[in-house]
Amino acid sequence: MNKKVAVIGAGLGGLAVALLLKKQGYEVTIFEKNAQLGGKINNLSIDGFRFDTGASLITMPFVIDNFFKLLNLNINDYIEIKKLDIITKYFFQDGITINAYSNLENFIDEIANKTNQDKHSIQKYFDYSKRIYDLTSDLFIFNDFTSISKLINKRGLKTLINIKDIDPFRTIHQANSSFFSDTKVIQIFDRYATYNGSNPYKAPATLNIIPYVEYFLGGFYIQTGMYSLIQVLEKLCNQYDINIFTNTEIKNISIKNNHSCVTTTTNDNFSFDYIISNSDVNHTFRSLLNDSNSTESIRNYKNQASSSALVYYWGIKGNYPTLDTHNILFSDDYHNEFSQIFDKKQISDDPTIYIYISSKFNTNDAPIGHENWFVMINTPENLGQNWDEIIIKYRSLIINKISNLTGIDLKDKIITEHTLTPLSIERNTLSRYGSIYGISSNSKSAAFLRQKNRSKKYPNLFFVGGSVHPGGGIPLVLSSAMIVSKMFEEMND
Ligand SMILES: Cc1cc2nc3c(=O)[nH]c(=O)nc-3n(C[C@H](O)[C@H](O)[C@H](O)COP(=O)(O)OP(=O)(O)OC[C@H]3O[C@@H](n4cnc5c(N)ncnc54)[C@H](O)[C@@H]3O)c2cc1C
Repeated sequence: MNKKVAVIGAGLGGLAVALLLKKQGYEVTIFEKNAQLGGKINNLSIDGFRFDTGASLITMPFVIDNFFKLLNLNINDYIEIKKLDIITKYFFQDGITINAYSNLENFIDEIANKTNQDKHSIQKYFDYSKRIYDLTSDLFIFNDFTSISKLINKRGLKTLINIKDIDPFRTIHQANSSFFSDTKVIQIFDRYATYNGSNPYKAPATLNIIPYVEYFLGGFYIQTGMYSLIQVLEKLCNQYDINIFTNTEIKNISIKNNHSCVTTTTNDNFSFDYIISNSDVNHTFRSLLNDSNSTESIRNYKNQASSSALVYYWGIKGNYPTLDTHNILFSDDYHNEFSQIFDKKQISDDPTIYIYISSKFNTNDAPIGHENWFVMINTPENLGQNWDEIIIKYRSLIINKISNLTGIDLKDKIITEHTLTPLSIERNTLSRYGSIYGISSNSKSAAFLRQKNRSKKYPNLFFVGGSVHPGGGIPLVLSSAMIVSKMFEEMND
């Protein structure tokens, strides 16, 4: 087969789909605007510290496993993915800490011991979460649903008949409040809305699928850092003779009938049979296709962006056993935090802080006697805020809050620092407004409004990545690549 495919962008989705299509016999070329591959999964090494700059937690590792199987490879020959014992350590303002153990029984015991919630209600909640997974995952995560006909099959009908069980009409918070009376427990489970950049007070309770995914299927890490996943895919691309042009930004796509062409910023033109965009879907329509009028383009533009993040990468003097690998220091007023982010487009005055320390499991990531802290707060998307001022303001606020909730005094302990803002995410990856997960799921119809993986208007144009179906985050992005690969297979049937 001599059909040629261009992949625009070497994020996780772009690299994965390139490998799958090469395996099918296509001639594949990747264009990446940055010098380094990986997009939002990236690596930073400064002053003896190594940081994962973006994604830090792996869920649903079987999706990565399945991806390797499609290439007839065994994941264990390439990468060491390990299960966390404690997925997250939660800190509350009244001094209570709760460990979210990977072992479900231990987690349920921990909640029952440290809150007023009884074990039975937690067990019931997980049964409910599992039911959502069973009814929706095949339809909405692992398949495209480009047409109603794809939904009309045995599984689709089962989901439709049981639509109440997938809970699309309540919000995450409403549903969680119906299961639990303890506000700490509600807050822990409301937090899963942030896994796709959404607001638990608006997003449909169908997203309560995520606790099942995390506790039944587990929370994982890569021993050598998240960027190893990208390095493995890069190595495989080289072995498979996939052409990769780095430092090469595509600035235009032209599609006429069966002829597709991409143009770089240096005005070089390349012709292809198919184009797969791993770039943000709005950037693809508006900037690359210069299309702001088609139904698809307008619909994407109307979708609300997901939240973004401000991240401090701190090299810290000392070791802190109080903290685990993944830590959450909750805000006291969660409702107000999300209302500030999504309605007022502000960062909360009392933000929830996420601290990820990979040197807890990989001592090579920091010099002896030191730790590498990835300290993140959720923010609205980049709307032209003064990020330099915000970095300074929130730095001291975060340091104070860490001291109040954990007793760790960071004054004079931060010996190296780097930051990531929504503006730098936008510049690095061309994600619209620097949003982390493409669009938010803050409405009942959000899942249906996401761009499908093949364009209706331009049949030679396909999409992979976090801004399109099925969504952001490592497993869903890999799933988008597998869905597109299946579409190509079906074209040849
Ligand atoms: C701070 C942060 C924390 C996160 N935490 C987690 C987590 O814990 N777990 C998890 O599962 N997920 C997490 N995510 C989300 C996850 O990283 C993303 O969903 C995923 O990596 C997105 O992959 P993608 O394929 O959409 O490509 P992206 O990472 O968006 O990459 C797209 C690539 O395309 C390139 N590109 C774009 N336009 C062009 C063009 N015109 N020409 C050439 N190249 C172009 C960009 O330079 C970029 O390299 C996090 C993300 C961030 C930023």
